Amino acid sequence: MKAFIDLANGNISGDVSESVRKLKDLKGIFADEAAFAAMDPETVAYRVQMHDAEKNGVEGGLLFGTSYVMPGKVGDEYFMTKGHYHAKRDTAEYYFCISGKGALILMREDGTCWMEEMERGTLHYIEKSVAHRLANTGDEVLAVGCIWGSDIGHDYETIAKYGFTKRLKEIDGKPQLV
Ligand code: MN
Repeated sequence: MKAFIDLANGNISGDVSESVRKLKDLKGIFADEAAFAAMDPETVAYRVQMHDAEKNGVEGGLLFGTSYVMPGKVGDEYFMTKGHYHAKRDTAEYYFCISGKGALILMREDGTCWMEEMERGTLHYIEKSVAHRLANTGDEVLAVGCIWGSDIGHDYETIAKYGFTKRLKEIDGKPQLV
């Protein structure tokens, strides 16, 4: 099953589906609620393009997608994805940065939280049982390629309820995980 990916910007063409997340879909994930309330809720924070090679949930298959996180901040916190664990905790994932600058924020179930900086060409192996979220720390779109198993499932609820133990903020002009 063949498709096409533009390696300059991550754009996939072929059998592709797309989802968009606006600020109004991200209520509660940013610390600065006043800054959030002052922003246009229709602002696009990120979108995800998926190559539909396999149906979600199929055992043993793979899925490929490109995530695009827009540049921007809510207060001093960078635009970021909701973040998730895999419902099947015993599953890993690859991310790689195609363009832009950003951070992959990672957290183990014991709350240990760290980040890996992303720029064009960085390759990130997300180990089993590690929650993950993307943030755009630059001025351009952050495009990230993702490869995961079609049977892993996504647990957004645990993050929605408890969040990550650290936040990525711009402090003294630099991204810092605090
Ligand atoms: Mn994942």
